[in-house]
Amino acid sequence: MSNYYIWTIGCQMNVADSQRLGSALEQLGYDRVATAEDADIVILNSCVVRQGAEDKVVARLDSLKGLKGATNDVTIALTGCMVGPQVEHLKDRFSHVDFFIRPQEITALVEFAADRQGLACDVDQMLLVASRPQVSTFIPVIQGCDEFCTYCIVPYRRGRESSRPLNEIVGETEELVDRGVVEVTLLGQIVDKYGHDLPGDFDLADLLSAVNDVQGIERIRFLTSHPRDMSDRILRAVADLPKVVEHLNVPFQSGDDGVLERMRRPYAITEYFDLIERARTYVPGVALATDVIVGFCGETEEEFQRTVGVLERVRFDTVHIAAYSTRSGTIADRKIADDVPPGVKLERKNIVESLQERIATEVNMPLLGNRVEVLVERKVRGRWEGRTRTNKLVHFEDPGEADRVGSLMEVDIARTSPWSLTGTLPGYGYTESEPTEAITLVPVGGP
Ligand code: SAM
Ligand code: SF4
Repeated sequence: MSNYYIWTIGCQMNVADSQRLGSALEQLGYDRVATAEDADIVILNSCVVRQGAEDKVVARLDSLKGLKGATNDVTIALTGCMVGPQVEHLKDRFSHVDFFIRPQEITALVEFAADRQGLACDVDQMLLVASRPQVSTFIPVIQGCDEFCTYCIVPYRRGRESSRPLNEIVGETEELVDRGVVEVTLLGQIVDKYGHDLPGDFDLADLLSAVNDVQGIERIRFLTSHPRDMSDRILRAVADLPKVVEHLNVPFQSGDDGVLERMRRPYAITEYFDLIERARTYVPGVALATDVIVGFCGETEEEFQRTVGVLERVRFDTVHIAAYSTRSGTIADRKIADDVPPGVKLERKNIVESLQERIATEVNMPLLGNRVEVLVERKVRGRWEGRTRTNKLVHFEDPGEADRVGSLMEVDIARTSPWSLTGTLPGYGYTESEPTEAITLVPVGGP
């Protein structure tokens, strides 16, 4: 019996890449195990988008040194965005690692794993779909990024943009449905550029339409969108296609045009406001998520306040906030001074976090008493957990015994917070003695 262990940190693309690698290994007879100590092949799928993530990867890599005992019979592989075209410095620093695999270049590792089992394989011919996927699963549809925002390491690590053929994605969706998947999230660093590099004249709207036609799929998400590439055609597809949910993730990064220029983000903030207005016109009630970087090179207090102003004006449902950290080799690293003091970066991050907590509280509060549709993903500490079409996390209790994973359920919202909603099944009341205590369900009309 051969085993593999995989540890993943970072974005949804890394999660999807790990699932694909795991699928290949399982087809070669490997079983997934929960600890590195029990594995024959240990894989770390890394993220270095920010310093904090890189620190965690380094700590995890260091913790694996002890695995290489006297027999040295465990194979350790590092993949993800820590691995670029040059790996000599990584080899020097982490001499206990056997393979350094660039994202999307898994062939060498899979061939090694096959050889270890006495098998031959052609990775290009393998269907890289998890045998037991989550009911909500990611599908990468466009790899890489040609954008080169000055702060970002991703284009150096994930290479040029490359869209997967539409029929391949549709086929993968059908296969996932056969394995119990109900919702797919189509992934790309700039997902709204899908198709521009393929022969023929089609785009993300066409892909959404094709996936919408797959029998058995109930919901379709996509991320991350670039403000410049979010066309009216795509917005119309979101509005018109019943399975495409009302949720968009469109990072604006900074509210100041000067900072956007230094970041090499090709839009002015007024154009971003226009986009938000179009999105809300095409898709009434659309939920909006965004990414923001505070403390980018040279960001003055006035420039930071313009970011605060955008958050106040748009009132996003979710904001992913990052304090800028220099990434070695990026344009900003080479050409612009990282001169905002760490304390100021942290203070600005805290300000944005507190502001967003207040805004998300206000945005979620009107949902109190509403009935929402929840796709149930898992049970956590006795409560079912799932998401609405607008990507709100919902917890609820069900006195019945049925397994609800994969079901679309109606839930009445009884409590809201900035981060999640809590509800009950229709026909059940909701009581709680203390706000933080466990919830007790009582059938309406008495216990
Ligand atoms: N492609 C997406 C886009 O255009 O915004 C996002 C992908 S990027 C990997 C995810 C997020 O990480 C970015 O939106 C940005 O906010 C953040 N990020 C990237 N580089 C960063 C850096 N050097 N410091 C802090 N945050 C960074
Ligand atoms: Fe990074 Fe910019 Fe590409 Fe997003 S669009 S991955 S932030 S370079």
